[in-house]
Amino acid sequence: MVKVDRELNPTFTKYNEKDVTDSLKKDFNKKCYLCEEVTRHFEIDHFYPQKYYTHLINDYSNLFYCCQKCNKIKPKKVNTCSNDEILNCCEIDIEAYIKLKLNIKECKIEIEQISTDKNLDTQIKNTIKLLNRIYNGEDSKSNSCEDLREEITTVVASFRKKLDKYQKSKLKRVIIEQIKEDLDITSSYSTFKRWIIKDNQVLNNKFKQYIGDKT
Ligand SMILES: [Zn+2]
Repeated sequence: MVKVDRELNPTFTKYNEKDVTDSLKKDFNKKCYLCEEVTRHFEIDHFYPQKYYTHLINDYSNLFYCCQKCNKIKPKKVNTCSNDEILNCCEIDIEAYIKLKLNIKECKIEIEQISTDKNLDTQIKNTIKLLNRIYNGEDSKSNSCEDLREEITTVVASFRKKLDKYQKSKLKRVIIEQIKEDLDITSSYSTFKRWIIKDNQVLNNKFKQYIGDKT
């Protein structure tokens, strides 16, 4: 999960109109807001469920670009009351609170809370729980998470190869452009690649400008 900055504000009467789906595609860079898969097959997820928040059914800020798998895995109770709320990636920089890392040996995704905020504590914990369902299949009947982890493994391996190439190559400029693209929030599973950089001081000094890290 990464921060999503909405720029569009379409006018519409029903949330499934073409203007809305087109705007969501652009605002979310065709990425599922939960698992970060870049996909054209998406569903519109009501962040605050339609059933309980009827006044938000056609509110653009409540509409999220979500892949079919995640929309299925996400429990219906999410965001139905304050105890079940998750972090809103359109308002909060998720990476300031949650770190995601691929553990190749154990074939799982490590999801760690890295900072605390009294006001967001429940939301952070609920988000981690949901991400564990999505990536690791915890408390979920879905077995699609194995395919998802395979995809992430491929993306991370390819990114590590580029970092390796960067160290060895004399034509660094071309590789830097590729690394920059990989670290951009528009790329698939970008948070995994961004954390590889953030977790390594040498790499961080070199590439932090591409992850929007001001520290
Ligand atoms: Zn997804």
